[in-house]
Amino acid sequence: MSNEKKDRWKPEWIPPDAGDAFTTEVMGGIRSVHDGMPNQEKTETPFNSRSIRRQLSVDEYVQGVLNENRVILSRAITLIESNLPAHMELAQEILKKLLPHTGKSIRVGITGVPGAGKSTFIENLGCQLCDKGHKVAVLAVDPSSTVTKGSILGDKTRMEQLSRNPRAYIRPSPSSGTLGGVTRKSRETILLCEAAGYDVLLIETVGVGQSEVTVRSMVDFFLLLMITGAGDELQGMKKGVIELADAIVINKADGDNKQKALMAKVDYDRILHFLRPATEGWVTKGHTCSASTGEGVDDVWRMVEKFHQITAASGIFERRRRTQMLSWVQSMVQEYLQALFINHPDVIQKKPQIEQDVINGRISATMAVKNLIEIFEGH
Ligand code: GDP
Repeated sequence: MSNEKKDRWKPEWIPPDAGDAFTTEVMGGIRSVHDGMPNQEKTETPFNSRSIRRQLSVDEYVQGVLNENRVILSRAITLIESNLPAHMELAQEILKKLLPHTGKSIRVGITGVPGAGKSTFIENLGCQLCDKGHKVAVLAVDPSSTVTKGSILGDKTRMEQLSRNPRAYIRPSPSSGTLGGVTRKSRETILLCEAAGYDVLLIETVGVGQSEVTVRSMVDFFLLLMITGAGDELQGMKKGVIELADAIVINKADGDNKQKALMAKVDYDRILHFLRPATEGWVTKGHTCSASTGEGVDDVWRMVEKFHQITAASGIFERRRRTQMLSWVQSMVQEYLQALFINHPDVIQKKPQIEQDVINGRISATMAVKNLIEIFEGH
């Protein structure tokens, strides 16, 4: 009898204070108990109404984050990452209230090809920073997950020590949507982490395509992690990525590889000398470290601190953050307008023919745009 009682519960749509007003009860189904066949054991705990997560109010979210409650922080980030309009609305209300508590951190972007040692480096640096009393949040911006649903960055075995550290918080990349969507989610996650008292944010990305530019646009300091002998092209040696960097750190400077790493550093310094620095008033240089042994990792951090001091004193730090916010607004407006255009029913209907006309040389590209915009505007 008592067992039978335990396997029955009120469905979640019944208000908690309804008393006996509803007589409906639910019984454990075949997945939660067993399917009635002989010789079967119950293996799972029956799902019951108490395990349904209670909706939190905006103020509960806000207080939870401010009180540095990691569970509530995670739930707030999940709201930020959701594409459901109701969640997005709630998330924006929470963010609005938390905004005054954001911004007091240093945001560091870390990029490098797979295998460069990013997670080993972040693990080592993160643990050192936690020991010094910092609170470290690690976020990932993984462009691969938006395209293939696979992930270059997000496997769970990484950063084992850091993930157990109570002063650290690790959040994998948001896994769906466009890179623009991932950007919004990552930026807003940065703000939530700051409100929860994390004063060092390490934002990791992988050296493929657009993601470095994206991460550069949301961080104060951008660090390019390199290894020797991996092929310059592969490592973003194409001027572009190097020009984004505030430091080039050659990792795995240990054992037999140490000498090679030191030589690579000299080479990079020579190249950097001819490039425009990524940050006004700061000279980007090459460094070496070993993320495995930890040698040189603290020097890298001292450099980040020095960067912070210099750019804060000159006003560059604040200016960059303001510029980043404004260009973020602008890019979101662009995305919004683009989505309106692309999803407009008349545009959807007429675009293929107009595109065909361009391909066949019947109309010019400019004329095609004019026609499409007129359709969009309802002329
Ligand atoms: P990620 O793909 O950039 O995150 O690279 P990982 O941190 O996963 O490192 C890739 C491999 O390089 C792993 O086998 C690490 O143990 C190794 N590794 C990382 N840093 C160092 C280092 O400083 N020295 C040496 N010798 N190996 C390292």
